Amino acid sequence: MPKPDESRLIPKNLPDFQQHFPNEEACIVHLYTKRFPTGFVCRYCEQHEGDAGPPYSFVSRPTVYRCRNCKRDTSLTAGTIMHRSKQPLCSWFWAAFLVTSLTPGMSAVQFKKMLGIRRYETAFQMLHKLRAAMVRPERGSIGQKFPVEVDETFAGGATQGKGRGITDKVLVVGAVEVMPRRESDKWGGRDPNLMGGPPLKHRGGHGRGILAGRLRLQVIPNRKQETLVPFVRTYVAPGAKVRTDAWIGYEPLAEQGYDHEKVAVCGDHEKTDKHLPMIHIAFGNLDAWLLGTHHGVSPQHLQAYLNEYVFRFNRRFWPMVAFDSVLGIAVRAAAPSYEGLYKGAWEHPGT
Ligand SMILES: [Zn+2]
Repeated sequence: MPKPDESRLIPKNLPDFQQHFPNEEACIVHLYTKRFPTGFVCRYCEQHEGDAGPPYSFVSRPTVYRCRNCKRDTSLTAGTIMHRSKQPLCSWFWAAFLVTSLTPGMSAVQFKKMLGIRRYETAFQMLHKLRAAMVRPERGSIGQKFPVEVDETFAGGATQGKGRGITDKVLVVGAVEVMPRRESDKWGGRDPNLMGGPPLKHRGGHGRGILAGRLRLQVIPNRKQETLVPFVRTYVAPGAKVRTDAWIGYEPLAEQGYDHEKVAVCGDHEKTDKHLPMIHIAFGNLDAWLLGTHHGVSPQHLQAYLNEYVFRFNRRFWPMVAFDSVLGIAVRAAAPSYEGLYKGAWEHPGT
């Protein structure tokens, strides 16, 4: 994890946000420094403004810069989740701030109301694009230092208005690091995953002497070995200690080089809770969040919500840093188009 940059702009509250981003121009300036931290670089001829001089700009098109060398135009939002959006940058900044500073996030309906957006689809699409920016392209595997609990659950599902027992719930696999609480004390009460961040306010762990570390979640089609084992291999570091139940789907983990600890829980809740406490807390909170904030989620979009949940979970002790993080990631993330979202052509990156 890179050291947090002291110069990053992290609004602490609404007045602070308003002071930093009072208008469209302030948002443009901020995005410009994010995209071109060392000065303008032409995306076509790669000329740096230090050599060619600052790009030409236009009053009528404030987010377009023309290279002095090759005379081609670069849009400030090209390649970002905000590209070709009819919404002003201000709205995107508000969106990133609200989504990251409200603990449970926001539903598209609430978001539409708060930002005064006319169409539900616009609000829905903006939130989904922000979710695409919540997956760090370079996010690594977990479990290098701590044991990892892995299990599956059914999540999502808008069950309202349907018959009893009929559900759209989707199979999800999760992995979470388990850290001894005394370990976090060694770091002065700071999360080892985000060293340099502010000290933890709450410790979590429900008085168990343990603390949840980083989380990964993915929608899966089934519980077969050929599904579960690649998930672990993708997201859990080689050789890590992995705790699961005795399900046959995890059987090959030992021969794959993992220190596999399995316990037959046979649906016994007490046993499960003792053996895999952290992943079940994560699953329980996920369920509450999907229902409470979003009133259920359709299977087609569930991975995007899982991404948002993981983003929140992994940054839960300092939500304000997430604002900067979403904007920082946003300038690099590829975003789904409107058609992609609705026709299902866009595949949400796994977490
Ligand atoms: Zn150029």
